[in-house]
Formats: sequence, C-alpha cells, structure tokens
Amino acid sequence: MASVISHPAVPLALAVALGPTRVPAALAAAACAASILPDVDSLGFAAGIPYDHTFGHRGFTHSLVFAILTALAGGVLAKRLGASASAAFIIVFVSTASHGVLDAMTTGGLGVAFFSPFSNARSFLPWRVIRVSPIGVGPFFSSWGLQVLKSELLWIWTPAAVFAAIGVAVRRSG
Ligand SMILES: [Zn+2]
Repeated sequence: MASVISHPAVPLALAVALGPTRVPAALAAAACAASILPDVDSLGFAAGIPYDHTFGHRGFTHSLVFAILTALAGGVLAKRLGASASAAFIIVFVSTASHGVLDAMTTGGLGVAFFSPFSNARSFLPWRVIRVSPIGVGPFFSSWGLQVLKSELLWIWTPAAVFAAIGVAVRRSG
C-alpha cells in the first residue's frame, strides 16, 4: 500500500476540485472510506492468506471489478450521500480504483491484480516513485515511515493539491 493516510488524497482533491454541490460532504467521506477499503485484504494477510492468492494483499480488492462493485454500492446509497446516482458512482469508482493505481506506483511488494478475478496477474505501472509503506503501525513510526511520508507528500499530495487548485480556479471562472 501507499499509506492509509495518503489514499484519501484522491477523493479529497476531487471533492475540493468539483465543489460541495457535486460532491457533498457525505459523499466525500464515503469516497475517502472507499479509497482505503481495498486494504481490508491486509486482514487476510494477517490470517495467513498468501500474498499472491486472489484474495491475498493487492489481489481482488485492488481490482477494477471491486472498484465497480464498490461504486455500484455508492450509486445505490447516493440519496443518503446527498448526490445523484451517477455522481456517487463516478466519485466512488475513481476513489476506489485510484487505490490500486497508487499501489502500482510503489517500490515494493507484489504488483496489483487489476483484472482479478479474470486474471491474477500482478502489475506495476512503469513509474514506481512512491516508497512502499510498511504493513502495520509499529514500523510506520521509523525512518522508513518518514521516507514514505516524504515521497507521498511529493508524489500524491502535491499533485492532488495542484489538481484541486485547478478545479477551484476553473469553477470560479465558470
Ligand atoms: Zn493497497
């Protein structure tokens, strides 16, 4: 994973860029949860499911199919999230799918099973610039953790902030 605190950068940037009319707070909160949801598979990791298994870490829950299923749930709950079904679907889909994309840019572990359950092949993107985050909280408070935060600040939060700022500027000028 990129670290748990950095995956929500994507939904937060979307929410700021698109504004509260399109992305109300409840939808933004759900999208933040969706962005970290794929790492529920680390529970299976702890329970002894092998990393390269379909339900191993970065397996099915990191796939596009899982992102679509999560987005469908978002669409069904759209009214409660204060948004239209299509907006909820798109925001939740992008937030969930971005998790695998960010993980596929990290420097460690196995790749991401984007096409699970059809293929369990694990892939990385050509740009592996994000320092892989340790699994678990203990090792996070270490110099490794600090390096992860630095690289996530540079490669996740900075582009997210730029995207958000551009979105706000476009909305203000429109
Ligand atoms: Zn992950």
